[in-house]
Amino acid sequence: MIAAVCCLLSLSLLVPAVCGAGFSITNPPLTVLMDFESPHSETSLRSLRQGLSQLLNPGGMDVSIALKADLPPNPQFGQLVVFKMKGSCSMSPVRPNRTAEQHGPLALAYTSDGQVLHFGEVECDRIRYTLQRILGRGGSMKNQETYGSALAIVMAHEVYHMLGNAVHHTHEGLTKPALSAYELTDPDLSLPPGAIATIRHNMQISSAPSTK
Ligand SMILES: [Zn+2]
Repeated sequence: MIAAVCCLLSLSLLVPAVCGAGFSITNPPLTVLMDFESPHSETSLRSLRQGLSQLLNPGGMDVSIALKADLPPNPQFGQLVVFKMKGSCSMSPVRPNRTAEQHGPLALAYTSDGQVLHFGEVECDRIRYTLQRILGRGGSMKNQETYGSALAIVMAHEVYHMLGNAVHHTHEGLTKPALSAYELTDPDLSLPPGAIATIRHNMQISSAPSTK
């Protein structure tokens, strides 16, 4: 049975909620594959790439970020996590916000039989709506960069769940159960030591020789 675990919730400024992120030392390198369902901001994507690499590299993990649309035929991957990028991933949406998009998780990872799968979804519209509470509307370059950084935080949170096979959260850092709009724009927010330890522990288990 496949179920959603860890959802990154869209929060009010007073009651923020977020889900998911992570990093680990992986060999082979980790590929973060994104599948955009709608046109996205290239400025935000550049910021996302930079932010996600910085967030996932504190322990020296080699991270490669790829777009599904750019993959060659028969691509080869080592460690792989996949994100469906839902909605319009830009501070300049192709259509106005809809009420139904304003509430709910910002992102999620799926589980099956108690294992966190390396597959998740990012709700780009909800993340934009959350940031608009403090940034206002508009797709200036600065806003697009900030939006990309927020996407990186959200995705790093989910990567923590995936690589750590973790359904729990930490009490600090970007792997808290909830994050406010202000935290999503905090350049100092990072993976806490507890999250890094969880990922390392799970990666060691995953790479250990089978005794069967
Ligand atoms: Zn979470």
